Amino acid sequence: MRLIMMGPPGAGKGTQAKFVAEHFGIPAISTGDIFRANVSEGTPLGIEAKRYMDAGDYVPDEVTNLMVRNRIDEEDAEPGFLLDGYPRTLAQVEELDGMIKFTGHSLDAVVVLTVDADEIVERLLQRAQVEGRADDTEDVIRKRQEIYAEQTEPLIEVYRARGILIEVDGMGEVAEVTQRIFEALDVVTQS
Ligand code: AMP
Repeated sequence: MRLIMMGPPGAGKGTQAKFVAEHFGIPAISTGDIFRANVSEGTPLGIEAKRYMDAGDYVPDEVTNLMVRNRIDEEDAEPGFLLDGYPRTLAQVEELDGMIKFTGHSLDAVVVLTVDADEIVERLLQRAQVEGRADDTEDVIRKRQEIYAEQTEPLIEVYRARGILIEVDGMGEVAEVTQRIFEALDVVTQS
């Protein structure tokens, strides 16, 4: 199973990605989490990524692509994986296509969580209090939403055209959303 979880910042993709990956017995690969781990360990990758993350910008494609390529090459990702937060640009889509093709597999589905924009800002400000993420201030949230709309939203049409897009209503309780995702993915796994 090779899946992508997409959605605007604060749509709950990280939370849902973990449930879905566990359900299918595949690793959830979150580029944001890998960057954050590198930032807290002070690695050269972390030092480079932090500049972009703190400003709400995307880390350059070359850096992100290489990081994902290395992660996907690990043994636990051989039976499949769920990508959370990647790809985010058209160049990353192409790069991922190459990586997957190389292994002789294909993408099974791209899940997009749809949410109300006002609700998202609320959720992210709450998360800022709980998790203390440096990029959850109101200005940076707005910037991340803008960048998502400009650079990542166009990916939805790319995957829709391929017939592998699944749009799921991301509003409501976490468990309800998880249930909706499972129901939508059941259709894919049974077909
Ligand atoms: P996330 O936890 O997915 O919201 O990601 C947090 C931050 O990490 C983003 O705002 C970007 O700065 C960076 N990041 C995560 N994934 C990517 C990606 N695929 N391409 C570029 N930057 C990324």
